[in-house]
Amino acid sequence: MAYYDYIIVGSGIAGLYTSLLAKEQGSVLVITKGSIDDCNTKYAQGGIAAAIGRGDSPELHFKDTIAAGDGLCDEKAVRILVNEAPGRIAELVNFGVPFDTLDGEIALTMEAAHSIPRILHAGGDATGEHIEVTLSKLVRSSKIKVLEDCLATEILVEKGAVRGIKAIDCHTGSIDEFECRSLILATGGAGQLFKFNTNSDIATGDGIALAYKAGAEIVDMEFFQFHPTALSLPGVTPFLISEAVRGEGGILRNVDGYRFMPDYTPQGDLAPRDIVTRSILYEMKKTSSDRVFIDVTHLPPYVTTTRFPNIYQFCLAHGLDITEELVPVAPAAHYMMGGIKTNSWGETNIAGLFATGETACTGVHGANRLASNSMLEVVVFSKRIVGKTGKGIKQRASSVTKGTEAHHLLSQRQVPETAPAPSLSALQQLHWNKVGVIRNRESLTQAADILAAWQKALPKPTDRPSYELNNLVLTGQLVTEAALLRKESRGAHFRSDFPQSSPQWQRHIVFTTK
Ligand SMILES: Cc1cc2nc3c(=O)[nH]c(=O)nc-3n(C[C@H](O)[C@H](O)[C@H](O)COP(=O)(O)OP(=O)(O)OC[C@H]3O[C@@H](n4cnc5c(N)ncnc54)[C@H](O)[C@@H]3O)c2cc1C
Repeated sequence: MAYYDYIIVGSGIAGLYTSLLAKEQGSVLVITKGSIDDCNTKYAQGGIAAAIGRGDSPELHFKDTIAAGDGLCDEKAVRILVNEAPGRIAELVNFGVPFDTLDGEIALTMEAAHSIPRILHAGGDATGEHIEVTLSKLVRSSKIKVLEDCLATEILVEKGAVRGIKAIDCHTGSIDEFECRSLILATGGAGQLFKFNTNSDIATGDGIALAYKAGAEIVDMEFFQFHPTALSLPGVTPFLISEAVRGEGGILRNVDGYRFMPDYTPQGDLAPRDIVTRSILYEMKKTSSDRVFIDVTHLPPYVTTTRFPNIYQFCLAHGLDITEELVPVAPAAHYMMGGIKTNSWGETNIAGLFATGETACTGVHGANRLASNSMLEVVVFSKRIVGKTGKGIKQRASSVTKGTEAHHLLSQRQVPETAPAPSLSALQQLHWNKVGVIRNRESLTQAADILAAWQKALPKPTDRPSYELNNLVLTGQLVTEAALLRKESRGAHFRSDFPQSSPQWQRHIVFTTK
């Protein structure tokens, strides 16, 4: 059986960046279920946050991150994030990421809920693509072994420690086992839970399901961020209209052309995502419309076409010239704040198992992620994983900080003897309708019951779609049960039956199998 010092599952920014650092410490295998560049990372538009500009400081970045996180950020992790950001940006520059410049300095833009322009970008609104392509080229030309179209199906644990991973070759269906000293999950998010989402089709919660089944702790799953502004055109999958568009002066208007955001919050168009998302939904209801609009027609056309070339071209290809016409938008599921619980070294509660990127929960986002902090989280904490594992010793399980946590088993629900097996579209519709932006006890209980029945009815997986559907059902159960448990509204989690936040809920919900 093949043995590696590091096995990394996933080839978005988290998997690639970690593998480039890890290859200096030992042998590396990257397993990825599609081609190397299939991931959410390549769709990231706005950029990556770091306090590197004049007048900015890690302290200011810290304050903005804590404010967005609505009482649930891990302050120690946020300090690490903001303090180590400049060093990691320098590393990305060394790797060759071509950040945009202005007058010879890295250009910085504004995004919602940041108090100062601090977002680095590349190719205007093609930041993720530039990062992904730069890193994947480096990986391809290195000694790192990459297995594409290879889907991880089970974490192998022996005597409480990771031994390796099982994976299926998506072409032949054959299953292989690979052994390692350190297993790093970098499998991304779970946006495919929801009918309307901005994510790539790889975002099926695989890492969450694998880790949960292996005995890892899963935390904060009720916090799923909905992006307020995805393009809403009939027959077109939701395409992100970056926050940076409002950062550059874009204005939200309702179907009657009225600028509504100042009616909801003094922060207006640049309020945090959860507030803008709910305001848009209220405004859509008020005006009996399924969309609102972003207006950039007052900006000089060259600003729109040069700062947002991808968005401009995408809309133009669908018959919309955004320099002259309003852009129809509606909210869509976007980012999973919760995930596999890690400490500030990326360690989980299972020895030898690490998680990084969107599948991990380091605690920096709390109840609501500050825009452009997620790719930053990846590079800061991946570096720490490799720093910690570089000594060649198998890591011990992380110690758990129980003080602010409530531990739960997934609830055992009464389910009918026989139930029809779910389809992907039924699962996405269920989550959008019952576990979406605004939830309540009734909608969540209905969803939890249906998911439990589906869990029982799922056939044994045999190929990529069936493994992914299995993983989505389990991830959906974790999201739904956590949302039912949290009887308050906070950050991205809004319950119409408990619309206020409550001090007694300033704690985390953790699921484990034990
Ligand atoms: C449209 C959009 C715009 C965004 N804009 C920004 C932004 O401006 N700034 C920012 O900071 N963040 C942004 N985000 C969020 C950010 O892009 C992601 O959180 C980040 O890129 C996640 O990186 P990752 O490496 O963790 O996951 P991904 O990039 O999603 O990569 C996951 C990888 O894991 C692989 N994988 C999954 N399951 C398995 C399995 N079972 N076996 C093998 N391989 C598997 C996938 O194929 C993929 O290669 C945006 C996200 C989207 C969708």
